[in-house]
Amino acid sequence: MKIKAAVTKEAKSLFAIEDIDLDEPRNDEMLVKVIASGFCHTDELARLQALPVPLPAVLGHEGCGIVRKTGAEVKDFKPGDRVAFSFGSCGKCARCLEGRPAICELFVTINFGGVQADGTSRLSQNGKTLSSFFGQSSFAEYAVVNERSAVIIPEDVPLEITGPLGCGIQTGAGAVLNRLKPRPGSAIAVFGCGSVGLSAVMAAKISNCGMIIGVDQMPSRLDMALELGATHIINTVETPDAVKAIRKLTGHGADSSIDASGNGACIRMALNSIRPGSSTVLVGGGGDMILNIEHDLMGSAKSLLGVVEGDSNPKLFIPELIEHYRAGRLPFDKLISFYDFEDINTAAQASNSGKAIKAVLRMK
Ligand code: ZN
Repeated sequence: MKIKAAVTKEAKSLFAIEDIDLDEPRNDEMLVKVIASGFCHTDELARLQALPVPLPAVLGHEGCGIVRKTGAEVKDFKPGDRVAFSFGSCGKCARCLEGRPAICELFVTINFGGVQADGTSRLSQNGKTLSSFFGQSSFAEYAVVNERSAVIIPEDVPLEITGPLGCGIQTGAGAVLNRLKPRPGSAIAVFGCGSVGLSAVMAAKISNCGMIIGVDQMPSRLDMALELGATHIINTVETPDAVKAIRKLTGHGADSSIDASGNGACIRMALNSIRPGSSTVLVGGGGDMILNIEHDLMGSAKSLLGVVEGDSNPKLFIPELIEHYRAGRLPFDKLISFYDFEDINTAAQASNSGKAIKAVLRMK
């Protein structure tokens, strides 16, 4: 079928909304009318080709919408169902079978390789194949998604806010709830208060952390951190030595920390700010740093943990996050600024500058 989609033609080019062709869903896939899609830093990394997704491509991986058609083998969904979609996974490798699809052995191929789980794309333009992204390519009016990556959204939850649950929100919240599991009363420091870091702040509050320290450069994000549960904030423009400030606040260093910035200097501070025997979780991509193994890790028994997608199993974790949202514990809708699909380049700019914490595109 002919649909409109935002095509990324070459590295750094602006999104161009054009007519493309979308193939029919295969046996284990569904055709979904996209209602909204979050704009994520990972889309930007792909547009810039820091993440080398083959171009031309249709990006977008925080989609949600209404099922229009299901493949012959799809049993858990029917036309009319409201769904959010998450990352793709194979369902067959050891990690998928353990219930950890976020570290699926085919994660990179399925999500960044430009193809669906079966190795082919559903997208083309003038007879030429377009890459898909995260097995969904949600910057479009319609998407073909594998049933493995879709989750039903209950009727009482506004559908248009739910796309980011499939990536940014579960990444930050899962880093805390699935991986760190901080002790009640403990001190946690969150470096980078964008949508991922702020989701970690909300999850730290859910975990009853005693001290939740938000670290960022932007006053608006730090204000939001306070609103969402941070007990303390550190603005690194005013207080460049965040490590010293965290030691002063906690007395001995934080009990755990998270880096959601992907910036090497921030990761260094996140690691230096924890007390011996503690862990720093990394959820942001892109940065480099040099480690002294003895001083930074071994000698102080510290752990540096890489976490993808909050180590979530979306079929279990997204319903859990929705329960927290319903109960008022995860008001992630406060992070969202809506943009019309046609204004995707404006939304991208607002996302990149930090003006929008979580830009969400609405398709008509
Ligand atoms: Zn797998």
